[in-house]
Amino acid sequence: MERINVTKTFLPPIEEYHQYVREIWQNGQITNQGPLLVQLEDRLEQHLGVSNLHFVANGTVALQLAIKALGIEDGEIITSPFSYVASTSAILWEKCTPVFVDIEPDTFCIDPDKIEAAITDKTRAILAVHVFGYPCDIEKIEEIAKNHKLKVIYDSAHAFGASYNGKSLMSYGDISTGSFHATKLFHTVEGGCVIVNDKLASDKVELMKRFGHNGDDHIMLGINAKSSELHAAMGLCNLKYADEIIQKRKAVSEKYEQLLGDKFLRPKAKEGLTYNYAYYPIIFESEEQLLSAVKQLNDNNIFPRRYFFPSLNELSYIESSNSCPISEDISRRILCLPLYDSLDNQNIEKICEVLSK
Ligand SMILES: *Cc1c(COP(=O)(O)O)cnc(C)c1O
Repeated sequence: MERINVTKTFLPPIEEYHQYVREIWQNGQITNQGPLLVQLEDRLEQHLGVSNLHFVANGTVALQLAIKALGIEDGEIITSPFSYVASTSAILWEKCTPVFVDIEPDTFCIDPDKIEAAITDKTRAILAVHVFGYPCDIEKIEEIAKNHKLKVIYDSAHAFGASYNGKSLMSYGDISTGSFHATKLFHTVEGGCVIVNDKLASDKVELMKRFGHNGDDHIMLGINAKSSELHAAMGLCNLKYADEIIQKRKAVSEKYEQLLGDKFLRPKAKEGLTYNYAYYPIIFESEEQLLSAVKQLNDNNIFPRRYFFPSLNELSYIESSNSCPISEDISRRILCLPLYDSLDNQNIEKICEVLSK
């Protein structure tokens, strides 16, 4: 029996990758802002309708660069507890304190109405997550940030291909970061990006991602966040298929919708979203129900994932944090079903059949 995981990495036709590999061999340059990487950055900017996009090693270092480029060296960053661990670990790694604000019960994104109560004189920024590709309340967050002179970083790791009010969802905020990890809908094996709306901060990212120096001129503290020509080649291959992949994921999601009806609670999208079908989360009535469903799915060789569990305010290595009852509750009851472009109807039917029991 074929094993069905929560996702299956898209691999482009191998000949198309070979073509790029030959080009790399001819150029003789395999890293350090090579020609394919520059080409990928240009194509991604065109595809997303953004400027100042930096292709980097992964989506976690992208968040770290974002924090550094905005000049945040200590203090508090308001963030969402309902996310992949990297959005919080990046804050901790940069020696800042994550302050968790609970999520909206319908979008699972940070609740803007609870942000102001969490602002102190140490607050420097809001790091919000467009979770599952559903937009945060961008308008309210922008207003709060303006009133309190805070920076806004969006973790857009799930937002590739989604648009909001006619613009890429990745274009909002002072800085928006992406992940192109193999589990994401557009990938470069490992990879990520930093999209910077301010030219000066963008120049900082450019320097910081390659050790902070130009030749012998050491300008600022940097890190190695560079990617390679081989990763860029994978991105160039996959970008061609990005729209097609989203359409196929849409069809899979609609099939789930059709077979599951309103059996499970689902996140609600805000008006103005063109969705990217990044994930298919369902909410159970209780954690017991979820665990029993997972067991039955596993017995049928189907492996969904508990995205996102636990709620990040409950991480053992966080010193102290306020409780976030909605995030804690949703985290225990949410499951992401298998979703990828080549998932066929027969398997979707099997998954829904097990779930219906
Ligand atoms: C995947 C992911 C990241 C981390 O990206 P990597 O490229 O794996 O480092 C960060 N935030 C969220 C929300 C993610 O899903």
